[in-house]
Amino acid sequence: MKQFDVIVIGGGHAGAEAAAASCRVGAKTGLITLRRSGIGVMSCNPAIGGLGKGHLVREIDALDGIMGRVADEAGIQFRLLNRRKGPAVQGPRAQADRALYRAGIQRLLSEEEQLSIIIGEVSDFLIETGRVCGVVLADGSEIKCKAVVLTAGTFLNGVIHIGPEQKSGGRMGDAPSNRLGARLMDLGLARGRLKTGTPPRLDGRSINWDAVGRQPGDDEPVLFSFLNKSPKVQQIDCGITHTNEKTHDIVRKNLETSSMYGGHIEGVGPRYCPSLEDKVVRFADKASHQVFLEPEGLNDNTVYPNGISSSLPENVQNDYVHSIVGLEEAVILQPAYAIEYDYFDPRGLSPSLENRNFPGLYFAGQVNGTTGYEEAAAQGLVAGLCAARASLDTEPVIFHRSDSYIGVMLDDLLSRGVTEPYRMFTSRAEYRLHLRADNADQRLTPMGIELGCVRSERRIAFDSKMDAIETGRAKVESFSFTSQQLAVNGVRVSGDGVRRSGLDVLGSMNLDENTLVHLIPVLRDIDPAISRQITYDAIYSRYLGRQSIQIAQLKREESTLLAEDLNYDSLSGLSNELKSKLKLHRPPTLAHAARIEGMTPSALALILALVRKQGVVRAAS
Ligand code: FAD
Repeated sequence: MKQFDVIVIGGGHAGAEAAAASCRVGAKTGLITLRRSGIGVMSCNPAIGGLGKGHLVREIDALDGIMGRVADEAGIQFRLLNRRKGPAVQGPRAQADRALYRAGIQRLLSEEEQLSIIIGEVSDFLIETGRVCGVVLADGSEIKCKAVVLTAGTFLNGVIHIGPEQKSGGRMGDAPSNRLGARLMDLGLARGRLKTGTPPRLDGRSINWDAVGRQPGDDEPVLFSFLNKSPKVQQIDCGITHTNEKTHDIVRKNLETSSMYGGHIEGVGPRYCPSLEDKVVRFADKASHQVFLEPEGLNDNTVYPNGISSSLPENVQNDYVHSIVGLEEAVILQPAYAIEYDYFDPRGLSPSLENRNFPGLYFAGQVNGTTGYEEAAAQGLVAGLCAARASLDTEPVIFHRSDSYIGVMLDDLLSRGVTEPYRMFTSRAEYRLHLRADNADQRLTPMGIELGCVRSERRIAFDSKMDAIETGRAKVESFSFTSQQLAVNGVRVSGDGVRRSGLDVLGSMNLDENTLVHLIPVLRDIDPAISRQITYDAIYSRYLGRQSIQIAQLKREESTLLAEDLNYDSLSGLSNELKSKLKLHRPPTLAHAARIEGMTPSALALILALVRKQGVVRAAS
């Protein structure tokens, strides 16, 4: 009988990252998946990153994971989202060549000496004295191991919906995983149903590109991996078009034929990735919505029309697509569809993602109620690391909300569970001034080195970057200015007699580059990427102090009672989403309000201010 330290079930984004992480810490690993060609497949949009998600990819990379490196290698358009805002909320995003991405993941996995890839369907677990110690394949063969990581994605009891039609499937073109789904149900784990959808795929040759807008990538592409500096392949433009009243009329007239609106789907969908039906119903006052036309690859004519996912019948999809400018003659290569699948309540997991009732069994990815490649990969990394460490008799790794977006996601999942597919946003992180994409390596690579999951190439690159930052920072700090010296150079500061160091000037004054170089000429000799990092660190070190004070204050006020009739609508700084959740749940205390999904420290500070202003509190019972 074959035997491994760790078995990973599934070769999607969670599975690939789990297997790679397990190998990096030295565990003999078996990756079992349904199809070899399915390893690294992007089920939905051909893109990696975005707001919050880009942070996760950087953190995976900081721990020497594979997603960032492959996204760079396959990236055909890079855009830094929120470029005009501060670095804390900027999100790197890349559109990927689907085939190159999949090939990149498969290549990196094939280079892992500790990894065996087994093609098969896992249908059961081997359990001895309550501990999971192996798997059974559908052909009856058994494989033993010390830990199993389950990353079966949307495949467990998956049902594909197109209009009123339904068929079993893990995603388009793949069979579902019903045997394993049934077995997990037998184990009595708390489970639910979720759903997600994808748009129709179009033949790019049938699109009138002259009639649509162009969206180029950034002039200075920002990559994911701390090891990479520039894109590896040709860069392309995307197109932009819009839905219109005619499109919306078609959707409205056919709503009852939509799987979702016709009552055929029980699972809850991702509110933040609404289908076209959702947009037309929920945002009825909007006359149009953007549609991004994203080519799926350099040698692929398929185009992904981002923004029009649907579960309407195929003939209706044809009609609504043809109502859109530039898509009048568009040929649909694959219809839009929704998929409904099982997920398991993540509140049953420990911070290492191990199931509390079935030790030895780890869960990662879509099976935990999340949506998205990045969320899946980050969980895969955690589960792979922890499973491998457990198999080697070492302690699990604990990620905290204060050290990473990974920690934020784990804490959210484990403490609040999910009521809809969970996706990452920067607003979920209360320590977001510290948890920036630019400093993910400074936050996590030292931890990765200690855990033994960072290989020498990255360790050497990281050490030399940190040396350069330290040297550069010391040089900048050695400059010192009086208020008068700064005033002579056109920099207005209060005449408080305090001398300002070069770092203070760099971090606090928002000066243009010429003035900075004039004041601190040594900046000219520092690599631009290093001086940018020194600048960001200097800017944010000022705010971090304030943030810690705000957090400490909120902690002190946690027991503040919130009146039943507190008027949340009067808080203009609060998002409508949070207002409706607060009105629905009417949390009795500030601590309860803090646990509402999506709550942030600034929102809590607003609520606290309101309580004080109104001077009303819920009667203590
Ligand atoms: P997957 O990528 O689904 O991988 C699962 C793996 O498990 C596969 O390799 C499969 O072969 C394997 N497997 C399953 N059962 C078994 C078994 N019994 N034995 C062996 N191997 C098995 N994300 C977004 O962020 N936004 C979206 O709008 C979005 N829309 C989507 C629409 C659709 C139709 C689908 C299918 C997915 C969508 N996603 C979307 C989700 C995204 O694809 C997933 O979040 C991501 O792929 C999850 O990664 P994963 O590793 O958990 O699972």
